[in-house]
Amino acid sequence: MSHSKFGVAIHGGAGVNPGQDYQIVERDLELLINACCNRLAQGAGALDVVEWVIGEMEASGFYCAGRGSGPNTDGIYELDASIMDGALRRAGGVCAVRDVVSPIAAARLVMEQTPHVLLAGEGANAFCKRQGLAHVTDPSAYYVTPIGVLDSEIATAGQTLRTHGTVGAVALDLAGNLAAGTSTGGTFGKLPGRIGDTPIAGLGTWADKKVAISCTGIGETFILSGGAGNVAARVLYGQATIQSACNDMIADVGDLGGDGGVIAIDSDGQVSFSFNSPGMKRACAGSDCPTMIAVF
Ligand code: ASP
Repeated sequence: MSHSKFGVAIHGGAGVNPGQDYQIVERDLELLINACCNRLAQGAGALDVVEWVIGEMEASGFYCAGRGSGPNTDGIYELDASIMDGALRRAGGVCAVRDVVSPIAAARLVMEQTPHVLLAGEGANAFCKRQGLAHVTDPSAYYVTPIGVLDSEIATAGQTLRTHGTVGAVALDLAGNLAAGTSTGGTFGKLPGRIGDTPIAGLGTWADKKVAISCTGIGETFILSGGAGNVAARVLYGQATIQSACNDMIADVGDLGGDGGVIAIDSDGQVSFSFNSPGMKRACAGSDCPTMIAVF
């Protein structure tokens, strides 16, 4: 079925520091959102655009995901990601994978090449190798501190969960299909084996025929609030607008002592953002949506 609307929103995490200079990030978000928009206008699928843009953000090292991930308390990089195809209601995720260049590509392969929704740890690492995914051979040379993360935050990471970041995308394509994805290095200074909301469909990521959602923030509180699934349920069963559904889920995260944000798009191409953190690196564009790039 042909549909005349398309739209896309991306985020680079809600772990931002007021007073920091995020101009490099803003320029990157602008390039990425324009590229996503062009791809969608030319008929690219929402799922492909979501995977592509998250892969770019993972590779840049600008965000706390992929190359910009922080190590756990053992000094090991364990990454999480998930992707969801709203048209076919299928999803894939990986958690605590080590040294995979693009966890979002791994998540998509779990969705498309296995009967499972989530692979973890050693099994996920072995799966990525079997699939021939690019691998980090020298972690000490590969991983970098993302833009805006302060040395003082790294030094105290683990004492609080406040230093965190993620990348995510939601898109509606010209065929009317929605997709969402999210990828993270998790919270800085996390315990080995710690997993947040990001790799789990229904928590960090959700897409169905009405709405696509990606969350970012302190994963423990997003899990306890119901995260992306909570937003989708408010829209589906509560007839809420996506903006009020996002606001209410984030208010719940705040009541649980967490901070973070959420991006969402509906089947009409309407984009919503909500966050209770000092800012969220974000951008959107589309046929009915003026291009917007912001951090605070
Ligand atoms: N939600 C991610 C996690 O808890 C972190 C983030 O989005 O900033 O692992």
